Amino acid sequence: MAYVDFSRLKRAVPIRRVLDHYGLTESLKRQGADLRGPCPVHQGSNPTQFSVDPEKSCWRCFTCGAGGTILDLVAALERVDLHEAGLRILEWSGVDAALLHRGQEAPGARRPSPVRRKPAAPRPSPPLTFRLTLDPEHPYLAERGLSPETVAAFGLGYCSRGILAGRIAIPIHDAAGRLIAYAGRWPGEPPPERMERVTRALVASIDSHQPPTFRSVWGREQHEANAALSARPNEVRIDDDLSAECAVVEVFTIDRRGLLYQLASALHELGLIIRFAKISTALDQVVDVFYVAERDGTKPRSAERLDEIRRRLMEIITPG
Ligand SMILES: [Zn+2]
Repeated sequence: MAYVDFSRLKRAVPIRRVLDHYGLTESLKRQGADLRGPCPVHQGSNPTQFSVDPEKSCWRCFTCGAGGTILDLVAALERVDLHEAGLRILEWSGVDAALLHRGQEAPGARRPSPVRRKPAAPRPSPPLTFRLTLDPEHPYLAERGLSPETVAAFGLGYCSRGILAGRIAIPIHDAAGRLIAYAGRWPGEPPPERMERVTRALVASIDSHQPPTFRSVWGREQHEANAALSARPNEVRIDDDLSAECAVVEVFTIDRRGLLYQLASALHELGLIIRFAKISTALDQVVDVFYVAERDGTKPRSAERLDEIRRRLMEIITPG
């Protein structure tokens, strides 16, 4: 079993990074030296029940009694044991696994075996241990043309508490019909502060020369599980007749975090200019279309060149 040096991991990753990673920062407000908000572990609503001490990197919920270090928090949110929580933090935090074992050790101390970075293997999400109480009569559902029968069949409803507060919650089940997650949908127009935040983030990402980072809120690497469930093929088609100036590249695959970035980066690295793109997602199925030209403005033509493009994109969308 992979060894995780818990105490070094705890020192290396501040609790604020964990809160950010799980999208919890916005639900917390400063109160003295602490951050307070509704408890994400038991999906509470009391705005002061969940307390985080960023200095000591610890947390506690006064309602459900859960609490501890970053490891306890990740374990509670992801419903995994502490060891698995440690591996998951290693995976997304970018903490260099090798660094965890450097530093002063007592002479003759037994060196722990090196940490293995966990490969992103397909891993079904465990069933949830709770169920949200939802209001199936929220007007947004009828506005979207969903009949009461559909709403009941899918268990949809408005959520007034916890981290999905103010959203329509959509239960997600695995192939065996067990509830494994909820997705949240804001009913109606997004609030202005949300739009402003998205705008700021977009401007910042254009100004920055860093590759983007992708946070996960519910579970992780759902893509692999989706891909395993889906019988639909990954496919890249290139049409060189449709446009006089561009080759038209169509990508069919399962959606995942960062996919569009990877595809656009690959086209850029292949020396292509994207003249036009149409990005569409239907549930988890992606159909992205790119009109591409060579840097000198000519149309990519040769069979070798088109094959190179197709192969590179296939590498990105093919699981494993
Ligand atoms: Zn709690």
